[in-house]
Amino acid sequence: MDFSYSDEQKLLRDEIVRFAQQELNEGIAQRDREQIFAPELWLKCGEMKLPGLPVPEEYGGGGLDALSTAIALEAFGYGCHDGGLAFSLAAHLLACVIPIWKFGSEEQKHKYLPGLCNGKIIAVNAMSEPDSGSDAFAMRTRAVATPDGLGFRINGTKTFSSNGPVADLAVTFALTDPEKGYHGGVTTFLVEKGTPGFRSSKKWDKMGLRTSPIGELVYEDVYVPASQVLGKVGAGSTQFTHSMDWERACLVACHVGTMERLLEKAIRQARTRKQFGQTIGKFQAVAHRIADMKISLEAARLLIYKAAWGLERSRMVAIDAAIAKVFGSEALVQTALNTVQIFGGYGFMTEYEVERALRDAIGSTIYSGTSEMQRNIIARWLGL
Ligand SMILES: Cc1cc2nc3c(=O)[nH]c(=O)nc-3n(C[C@H](O)[C@H](O)[C@H](O)COP(=O)(O)OP(=O)(O)OC[C@H]3O[C@@H](n4cnc5c(N)ncnc54)[C@H](O)[C@@H]3O)c2cc1C
Repeated sequence: MDFSYSDEQKLLRDEIVRFAQQELNEGIAQRDREQIFAPELWLKCGEMKLPGLPVPEEYGGGGLDALSTAIALEAFGYGCHDGGLAFSLAAHLLACVIPIWKFGSEEQKHKYLPGLCNGKIIAVNAMSEPDSGSDAFAMRTRAVATPDGLGFRINGTKTFSSNGPVADLAVTFALTDPEKGYHGGVTTFLVEKGTPGFRSSKKWDKMGLRTSPIGELVYEDVYVPASQVLGKVGAGSTQFTHSMDWERACLVACHVGTMERLLEKAIRQARTRKQFGQTIGKFQAVAHRIADMKISLEAARLLIYKAAWGLERSRMVAIDAAIAKVFGSEALVQTALNTVQIFGGYGFMTEYEVERALRDAIGSTIYSGTSEMQRNIIARWLGL
């Protein structure tokens, strides 16, 4: 077992950190305050092929293996202080680009992947609905085949759709056979912005990830030709589950980068802030808090690398991805909370950019399946 980075992985990491630090962080406090999504930054990320890291080069992607993709996203989470942008980009890549790459027809891949990888097309994964979140497959959105058999009509409403308000393409999950449900009754459709009857409605105001636009999508008798079915009719559950393995394993890699940045910030503060005539890091209570942050960071990184490695190799990836997701997201929240505590009153103030990290972190134990649902997956794998 080799725990070292290859020369290529080191270069990749350095290049992404430098890019993110130089290009993505200016004006973030204002964008966060005003909930502004920055399309120009998205396009810059596209020039770096970040929205298509593991997609083969023939489709315009970066051609990375899954583990290198996780390492790249970790570097992105470290260098990019805009948690909303990082989240939006990772959700686009892992929950939309991955299923199109893995399950799309050659025609669909050539049509969409180049734009999805270079930032010209933004995608949204439309699964959750107002009445079905954790129980996602209890969805109400229906797609009914037209009598001529040439297409489908979709009706329903999706919510909490990340990138929904700005997306050009919606990877949409709908019931095509309610009786079969999860087992062959769900189909994935590629619905383009501008398709009659399809619109983005409400945009949510949020506690964190405020630069990531999240909204509701409405489908009113939306006609899509059969060519917009991703893969086969009835394959939606498998496609969704596969993309969630990628999302759980790799989105948390971004968190590891963020945790490392917060740890460094906390150490700097503990070494410079003085109270009672000494730096606060000399108080064991503060030093141990920082030691715990380091332990969480290292453990999360190993779990995530193992899960990401398994994406292309292991039949156990679902449990490994769930373990990485629940541990990595809870570690992120605790790390952000610890950093605020170490900064004292300054940590509570917007100017120090620590409270934003905490607000951005909270959603991580909810999206891509809540912590409770990850523990359910782990328990099921253990035969419970
Ligand atoms: C920032 C953010 C971005 C998101 N982006 C997207 C997106 O791009 N696309 C998309 O489709 N969805 C997205 N979501 C939605 C997300 O997937 C759901 O919020 C999540 O699955 C939980 O569903 P819910 O909100 O309906 O909560 P519910 O399912 O109603 O859960 C409420 C509570 O009950 C618990 N609970 C429910 N069922 C069980 C159970 N069986 N066992 C134990 N506890 C249970 C949950 O863990 C939770 O604590 C996003 C959410 C957030 C916060």
